[in-house]
Amino acid sequence: MSETVIDIENAVVSYREDVALRGVSLKVGSGEFVGIIGPNGAGKTTLLTIVNGLGKLLSGRVWVLGHYLTPGNGHSLRKKVGYVAQVQNIDPRMPMNVREVVMIGRYGLLGLLARPGKHDWKVVDEMLALVGMSHLARRPIGHLSGGEQQRVAIARCLAQEPRLFLLDEPTASLDWKAQTDILELVKQIHDSRHLTTLFVTHDLNCLPVACDRIVLMKEGLIWGEGSPSELLTDNNLGRLYDMPVSEVKKRRGENILV
Ligand code: ATP
Repeated sequence: MSETVIDIENAVVSYREDVALRGVSLKVGSGEFVGIIGPNGAGKTTLLTIVNGLGKLLSGRVWVLGHYLTPGNGHSLRKKVGYVAQVQNIDPRMPMNVREVVMIGRYGLLGLLARPGKHDWKVVDEMLALVGMSHLARRPIGHLSGGEQQRVAIARCLAQEPRLFLLDEPTASLDWKAQTDILELVKQIHDSRHLTTLFVTHDLNCLPVACDRIVLMKEGLIWGEGSPSELLTDNNLGRLYDMPVSEVKKRRGENILV
């Protein structure tokens, strides 16, 4: 494996009575594109949270980009980690345009009280061009489609100049064309900017093409990891979701995987 950038050992995380991670160990090498899948409540978001320096460990160790996660250092870790969440409901009256929202990504580097300079606006405009959103740079952020909103979220994340690219179901609630476009964009950005990417999704159709490795999660544990072709078999998926894949296909009237 290439240089390790994430090393999680036996991480246990709980939210009061709910144990979200029950002893998760995972190593990720620089430049890897890792897809994380599993049923609702499996602990996927919580796993991203601890990589992002936000989670509270009950036990275990999390090492990211040369630093162990401790209660005090989440903030410095987050500067190097970009995070894109699901499409959000944004109030159409929100008084910010697309360009200003992307600038928010720079504030971790600049400090909240600093005024962005020419260079910062240049980075913002480059990121908007990269995600194909230059033409909507002055539009209010609340006036975008879900797919456009996700492009802006990706641009904001890149404006931060992260080394790790975490995406938590970024294609949820998008139509299939927008889902495919966003996944292709993420993959292209991953390759061209030499990022290390963790991509959580329920979209089993698009994901395998992009991934070097798949991590399957269930009930707060890593249930399997390996190449998409090894892991994403009907048998494994049926056991992961507690339902035969043939039944899912029948109910949805569509193909899952090939
Ligand atoms: P989904 O696919 O539904 O997004 P997930 O695999 O991302 O699920 P998590 O969101 O990590 O799963 O949740 C794992 C467990 O932790 C669940 O049982 C959930 O109810 C619980 N949990 C997550 N966040 C919180 C929170 N802030 N407070 C209390 N419990 C939480």
